[in-house]
Amino acid sequence: ASSKSSAVQRAPLKVVVRVRPLLGNEARAWNTIRVLSEQTLMFGPKVENAAADAWGHGFAGDGARGNKDLIFSFDRVFGPDCNNRDVYGASIQETISKLIDGFNCSIFAYGPTGSGKTHTMLGNPDEKGLIYLLLSDMYTRIQNEKSIISFVINISYLEVYNENVRDLLSPNSNCLKLQEDGSEIFVQGLRWFCPSSLEQVMLMLQNGNSQRTQHPTDANAESSRSHAVFQVRMKLTRKDENGSVVSKNVVRLSMIDLAGSERAAANNNNAQRLHEGANINKSLLALGNCIQSLAFGRNHVPYRDSKLTRLLKGALGGNSYTVMIANVSPSNRAYEETCNTLRYASRAK
Ligand code: ADP
Ligand code: MG
Repeated sequence: ASSKSSAVQRAPLKVVVRVRPLLGNEARAWNTIRVLSEQTLMFGPKVENAAADAWGHGFAGDGARGNKDLIFSFDRVFGPDCNNRDVYGASIQETISKLIDGFNCSIFAYGPTGSGKTHTMLGNPDEKGLIYLLLSDMYTRIQNEKSIISFVINISYLEVYNENVRDLLSPNSNCLKLQEDGSEIFVQGLRWFCPSSLEQVMLMLQNGNSQRTQHPTDANAESSRSHAVFQVRMKLTRKDENGSVVSKNVVRLSMIDLAGSERAAANNNNAQRLHEGANINKSLLALGNCIQSLAFGRNHVPYRDSKLTRLLKGALGGNSYTVMIANVSPSNRAYEETCNTLRYASRAK
């Protein structure tokens, strides 16, 4: 993914992979991933041979046996030992300078349910997530930056569930409409708040999460059926070298905890679930296509193919910078989904 970026102008897209640790209840699982370097990983049915030998022989459920190990490379690979702060420092922190320089920034957490998207974005009381780490850094930075005279920050938090947009900070809102105005997209009726502190932002996020169609930290497989889109609009007023006051355009930061990327299971006879699954697949495919078109500088970017991509048109296009964090589980039981996720992530570049 990174090899072609040296000659041409750097693509406004970074794709990183985060491998979560095996969890307590996965003690009998074995690893399908070995991190080889900061940029590469090896993926195969049983790359960790010690564990595989103990459990692998005669294990009937391992349909992946016989597949070859594959090497993937990305802008960055974070192994199971990395925490949110490591991910933040190595791949997210630099977005602050981009924002201050006027770039719209988008950060996506992609991956199947249970792979660590919400852990990465929101974290928990013991381990703060990327949203907190980025915002706290951003507040400090703009308060200390001498050239910045004043700033206004607005936030919104919405979910896209089954191609419907709901305002998570305005409990009774449903089916909000998208309205196009030139290159900008507005969500009609979406509320934007002007928080007075980082603590207030985090409280609003917590409240918003309790409004999600499925609670984002639910462990059951039916959770994570919606895309949660947290957006920050920031307007900075700065002094240039001559001391003249310049008001910069509004820049937008979008942080998106995507719906679980697992396929709508073929044997799933629940019509509602199938419908949700089809919509999720559609929007994740559309997102991949848009990101790819933008990274390759194509003229046509198929924003219109899903609500999510229409909504993010203003954030992704133009002067923008995107980080895609592909989350995977190293467990052999997640082999197929990990394979799909790694392929999606390498295709995005
Ligand atoms: P997703 O949002 O992708 O469905 P979660 O973030 O809810 O997945 O993670 C699933 C489970 O794995 C949770 O119990 C979470 O605490 C745990 N987990 C995920 N990533 C990590 C990590 N890097 N370190 C420790 N535990 C993790
Ligand atoms: Mg989640």
